[in-house]
Amino acid sequence: MVKLEDLGEVISTDVLIVGGGVGGLAAAIKVKEDNPESDVLIVEKQTTGYAGKATKIGGILVFLGPDNDADNFIDFQVNTSGVYLNDQELLYKYITSTFNAIEKFAEWGDKLAKTPDGKMVSFPAMFAPELSSTFIDIDMMLPMRSRAKKMGTKMINKIHVVDLLKEDNRVVGAVGFHIIDGNPYIFKAKATILANGSCGYKVRRFWSAGTGDGIAAAYRAGAEMRNAEYGNLYGHTVFQATDSGMVGSDFLVNSLGENLRQKYMPDKGPAGVFLPVNLAIGLEKEVAEGRGPIYFEPPKGGPQHGGGFNMSLPKLGQWHEKIAKKEREHGLTPGGKHEIGVPMHGETSCIRVDHEMRTSLEGLWAIGDTSYAGSALAGAVASPPGVCPGSGIMFAVVSAAWAGASAARYITGSSSVDIDAQEAEKIKRMAFEPMHSRNTFSPLDAISALGDITAPMKYNLRRSKDRLEEALSMIETLKDKLPSLYAKDLHYLSKCHEVRSMAICAELTFKAALMRDESRGFHFREDFPERDDKNWLKWIIIQGVEGEMKLSTDPIPINKYKIKPNGGK
Ligand SMILES: Cc1cc2nc3c(=O)[nH]c(=O)nc-3n(C[C@H](O)[C@H](O)[C@H](O)COP(=O)(O)OP(=O)(O)OC[C@H]3O[C@@H](n4cnc5c(N)ncnc54)[C@H](O)[C@@H]3O)c2cc1C
Repeated sequence: MVKLEDLGEVISTDVLIVGGGVGGLAAAIKVKEDNPESDVLIVEKQTTGYAGKATKIGGILVFLGPDNDADNFIDFQVNTSGVYLNDQELLYKYITSTFNAIEKFAEWGDKLAKTPDGKMVSFPAMFAPELSSTFIDIDMMLPMRSRAKKMGTKMINKIHVVDLLKEDNRVVGAVGFHIIDGNPYIFKAKATILANGSCGYKVRRFWSAGTGDGIAAAYRAGAEMRNAEYGNLYGHTVFQATDSGMVGSDFLVNSLGENLRQKYMPDKGPAGVFLPVNLAIGLEKEVAEGRGPIYFEPPKGGPQHGGGFNMSLPKLGQWHEKIAKKEREHGLTPGGKHEIGVPMHGETSCIRVDHEMRTSLEGLWAIGDTSYAGSALAGAVASPPGVCPGSGIMFAVVSAAWAGASAARYITGSSSVDIDAQEAEKIKRMAFEPMHSRNTFSPLDAISALGDITAPMKYNLRRSKDRLEEALSMIETLKDKLPSLYAKDLHYLSKCHEVRSMAICAELTFKAALMRDESRGFHFREDFPERDDKNWLKWIIIQGVEGEMKLSTDPIPINKYKIKPNGGK
């Protein structure tokens, strides 16, 4: 009979938070505010307060300002980027919580952009009417970490959480390992909050924190997924030489000098997301037909890229200066004509959650980038940018507050949990298997192979039945090879689990994309180019049942929502 204590370090807590990014920290603070006596533990693969995506951001926060109108914004969002796949009630709850989150940042001691006379900078949001923006400095998590610590939150860094533990249908903790000393950890928790990010397939350096570990663990535990087809963000145009910049789409030209925005979007179209799908597909076509590369060429006197940043945010200012220096070194001068690229970010964030961020499994919550698309508040768009660029951090802290309050209530009335030592042992054995393998399949080769499937637009943006099936068969081939992964050290062991998670996210995305035989928002099917409201006002739900991905649909309760297709209200 296996004893739990013999398997590794066993730690009991009331609330286990997986991931110490901005969402994880905000959740810890909220649980402690609502239930100061509770034990709250954050476990983080890297270092809490420094890891995750929020340290790599553009610093934009988008919110509903005192002069903005929530109904007008929702009308725009649902009709353009969400295309009726939104949970409109949750969208309302979210957007009306955003100003309070700005106030929270100030209360935590974060630096928000200020005008010279000390007022908070606020300007209209870039891509959405009726919303306001400001900037926050990129060391925002440090005051949050201090506050969480002062309130008594415990933190353990360098822990890679591999899988969740269950007692019947209830999640009761997780198993992980220390990526420096290799010690196994078993966490026993009344409530578990997944705050460990989205999946970006490690295609881009800045997005590499998102390896879908939480999504895959929730899926393996039997949680429902929603909107997985919207895990295909091709963010925005960047300079090919530096992978930097966000040059917008108005002044993109092909090698013949034709303006591509005018060619592919003569009516300009809705601007709810970074790069409209029809323009992205147009850019791919231009290159395929020999009219590449694509350049950014602003007219003389027109908008330029680059420029200084001075909003009394020192870290963000330094960051902008560093990027500007790199661009100068590569000869990227303002006003010049420069080659651009359209890299994939992915951003699968498909754990299905309710209005309190509860998953379909008891005892398990999912927040921030794990569940942005799965919450359905953004609708038919990969999230973030979801509602619009600048909402990733905002959704992380708002959803953390909802989940924190809900988990704090839950633990008050909930009994202590038991862990099945045999289940824990099984996960532990699986977790360390690649270290004992005699095989030679490197996780780096596996990650690269997965990138070749998920990144090309022909598979993930300009979708068709044939190509989706081709991509899925490539994923199957890769999955067959995953049991032979070899980890030469603990760092590589972590990579092995990352690629395992990312392969599940890819399969979720491609299977859902194959099922949705229409085009809507960020999902474009070349073989079904029209939107089909008659058959597809539905969310695609995926659940793992006996090792198989089971797909079903859930009708959108459009009749109870205010905004209906084609202007019907
Ligand atoms: C370059 C860039 C620019 C951006 N610009 C903006 C912007 O200007 N405005 C905006 O609002 N948003 C922006 N975003 C998005 C925003 O940063 C994210 O939406 C937000 O940080 C999500 O927070 P999170 O806590 O949910 O996830 P994350 O920040 O991804 O944190 C997840 C944490 O979980 C940890 N983790 C992962 N797997 C495990 C595991 N198995 N075990 C333990 N820990 C694990 C990770 O190490 C990480 O620390 C940007 C993102 C990037 C990459």
